Amino acid sequence: MNMKTEKLYQNKEWLRGKYWDEGLPTRQIGAICKIDFRKILYWMKKYNIPRRSYSEAEKGKIISEETKRKISEACKGRIISERQRKNHSKRMKGEGNSMYGKHHSKEARDKIGEAHKGMILSEETKKKISEIKKGIHPSEETKRKISKAHKGKKFSKRHREKLSEARLGMIPWNKGKRCPQLGGVNAANWKGGISFLVDLIRTNIKYRQWRDDVFTRDNFICQGCGQIGNKLNAHHIKSFSSILQYYEITTMEEALNCEELFNINNGVTLCEECHSNTENFKNKKNIIIKRK
Ligand SMILES: [Zn+2]
Repeated sequence: MNMKTEKLYQNKEWLRGKYWDEGLPTRQIGAICKIDFRKILYWMKKYNIPRRSYSEAEKGKIISEETKRKISEACKGRIISERQRKNHSKRMKGEGNSMYGKHHSKEARDKIGEAHKGMILSEETKKKISEIKKGIHPSEETKRKISKAHKGKKFSKRHREKLSEARLGMIPWNKGKRCPQLGGVNAANWKGGISFLVDLIRTNIKYRQWRDDVFTRDNFICQGCGQIGNKLNAHHIKSFSSILQYYEITTMEEALNCEELFNINNGVTLCEECHSNTENFKNKKNIIIKRK
């Protein structure tokens, strides 16, 4: 070969051979030709010689602690341009990332965890991370994995306090959402809900007033058998629970605003015995009491 060593890099085949067949890095090829590696890059580009991907270039490269320290030192305070950042991000994505499809070993994970311990993120960084994570939803498989990892795990008091703090002022996911399949008459515990509400209403002053009004109107006489006084009940002709269900009343506030519930014309004075014989007394279907 009579070509001068310095000019070898201008030979397409030689360059390709060194880079692809021998797998030499551009820095080394540059060293052979006694020129800067950037000149090698220039000629490779000129000849359309493809470059190894970032991950391939990094493959098997073991960086000593000393080098790492030097890199870290050199990078300190370095400001990366938007273009460089974008390029780097592009290189590190998907298959370009040396970790693509791989997983960190337990040891590596422990190391990362150790390194991140006590790390204080600036508000800006936190905001950025949150911004990136927005709209990213873990796959069902990932969710299962997270859930499995958390099973039986107890959060520390401090962690729980932090969680509660973070949730302060947060709007619950189900706030204002109506779940027709879960609420109202379809709810499995609907009857319990109604009887609870009925008990609640019975202790209310408005209910007591209604009862007294019914008694007064009926002169404290049982409208079934004519018994005067003794133990009297104010009976709802149209049952309490049916009114609540009809108007889909689920709260005390709604109940107090329901006119029909406190309509004196829907009430009748009955003695205990007559009351127990009404069709809707404790769900018993029996004789129908009509007001005289
Ligand atoms: Zn009676």
